[in-house]
Amino acid sequence: MADHVIAIDQGTTSTRAIVFDAAGGIVTTAQREHEQIFPRAGWVEHDPMEIWTNTEWVLSSAMFRAGLSAGDIAAIGITNQRETAMLWDRRTGRPVANAIVWQDTRTQRRIDELAAQSEAGSQRFAEQTGLPLATYFSASKIAWVLENVPGVRAAAEAGDVMFGTPDTWLIWNLTGGSSGGIHVTDVTNASRTLLMDLGTLDWSDELLAVWNIPRTILPEIRSSSEVVGEVSVPAIARGVRIAGILGDQQAATFGQAAFDAGESKNTYGTGNFLLVNSGTELVRSQHGLITTVAYRCGDEPARYALEGSIAVTGSLVQWLRDNLGLIKRSKDVERLAASVDDNGGAYFVPAFSGLFAPYWRSDARGALVGMTRYITAGHIARAALESTAFQTRDIVEAVAADTGVTPEELRVDGGMTRNDLLMQFQADILGIPVVRPQIIETTALGAAYAAGLATGVWSDRERLREHWREDVRFEPRMQADERERRYRLWRKAVQKSFDWVD
Ligand code: ADP
Repeated sequence: MADHVIAIDQGTTSTRAIVFDAAGGIVTTAQREHEQIFPRAGWVEHDPMEIWTNTEWVLSSAMFRAGLSAGDIAAIGITNQRETAMLWDRRTGRPVANAIVWQDTRTQRRIDELAAQSEAGSQRFAEQTGLPLATYFSASKIAWVLENVPGVRAAAEAGDVMFGTPDTWLIWNLTGGSSGGIHVTDVTNASRTLLMDLGTLDWSDELLAVWNIPRTILPEIRSSSEVVGEVSVPAIARGVRIAGILGDQQAATFGQAAFDAGESKNTYGTGNFLLVNSGTELVRSQHGLITTVAYRCGDEPARYALEGSIAVTGSLVQWLRDNLGLIKRSKDVERLAASVDDNGGAYFVPAFSGLFAPYWRSDARGALVGMTRYITAGHIARAALESTAFQTRDIVEAVAADTGVTPEELRVDGGMTRNDLLMQFQADILGIPVVRPQIIETTALGAAYAAGLATGVWSDRERLREHWREDVRFEPRMQADERERRYRLWRKAVQKSFDWVD
């Protein structure tokens, strides 16, 4: 019986296929990492062909291991790293360049020029898009490829080039690629391009003109939960319907069952992303948060969210592993950090791609301050973990300032939430409980939910709430004056990271 749902989670570091049963439980997982390409300082790329090959592999492997064939699968949902820009040739199916990843800052000059042309500065397009002008979003990355890769502009004008975030690239390939693949995305992904109008939920001709991007390269914008097409490759999944698309953070929000206004979640992955659902109301932030689409199911009105995006959290742990060699595996950071009692006075501001929310300072660069002869690798590991918790507090403060509401607890998910030391410190520094659910793969779960809702596996969202189960609740233990003292020092450290780029 077709009562399983598969989520494909195309993340920044890896691609996963996770098979869920009708109770929302995980049956099998297959995962493959892809190469992080750093051609120059500030540039971050992925190879779209590697990501497609990995997707075929994880999808086939997960189905094979679970002993399932296409007839057992009701639907596939796709979730993906957002903003990452891919352009390819519609005739050959080959990428015209590597994907430019969301963390990439190569387009800073163009961003600064556009901000300088307007009195509103970096808020120039905020009313229409909900976003500040920043290298983070897709528009400047698309413009960069059109301007810098020989022949691409002409091919695009001739209608031979397609743009997509990874959802779009994978769906096009899964549904036939150059021999008839469909070219679609969903509202949540489109809302991260700086090209979509949040009110109309359509591409804005005015913004396309600003960036000089031809409309023909853009995918059709669909809802997050509807049947968009059928898989033609790999053979093992042929005929399975693709019925859900959500950007990874929106998928995690959906997977945490934060469906209604006031509900929220914080995901700890490569970066951190806290989303607060604002329902059908479009709330504008006065304190450095983004306004984004939370999800749209079929013909229902779209639901919006306020988002606090932090660029570097889990990737700082990877940096300790890969660039400093302090640890062998990411999870070893917990043991190293536990080798000392506290940060020893060291504070680490990981402004590797500038600072995102709530600061939006592209001129910031990483700062490790408070260093003395006393500091050990353990203190640095601890300061690195603490930076995730401090950055999260910055976001929670911004949410409170915008909405007038301080959350009573924080629901968390993502790979880094396995780290109990970090979760306890997070509760300490926020002064509210941190709640970890049984399933922390909520990104994949959310994509599965969207696909299963569109194909009748689940009748409605209220049913899905029943799947949510608490695993651990971390209660704050730190004294209030100590909490505020440390947070004050963090804010001072952040100031030290500013104004570092000439
Ligand atoms: P993504 O979906 O962004 O690829 P994941 O949710 O898989 O990310 O989380 C992976 C990130 O979490 C990596 O950056 C890794 O360094 C970090 N991470 C994984 N386990 C731990 C741990 N036990 N402690 C701290 N960080 C961790």
